[in-house]
Amino acid sequence: MASYAEDLERMIASGCQAPGCTHKDHGTLFLHGKCHFKGKVEVSYTKDSGEILVACAECQKEIARIAVARRTFPATIKN
Ligand SMILES: [Zn+2]
Ligand SMILES: [Zn+2]
Repeated sequence: MASYAEDLERMIASGCQAPGCTHKDHGTLFLHGKCHFKGKVEVSYTKDSGEILVACAECQKEIARIAVARRTFPATIKN
């Protein structure tokens, strides 16, 4: 399920879930795999999904899906 701004802000408000957290600033949300906390992450986007997929680069486990907003040009608004 995709995350929206409200979901990400709720995650910030609920505090950092990272084991052995070394973050200096908890106003910023960092996305890590719980499976491989110190591992790399892969961030990808496909046109079909319309979401940014964050996955663990070690085991490909899904970490987060983040909805991407489309530009809304005035010309596309129907009156
Ligand atoms: Zn933290
Ligand atoms: Zn992993």
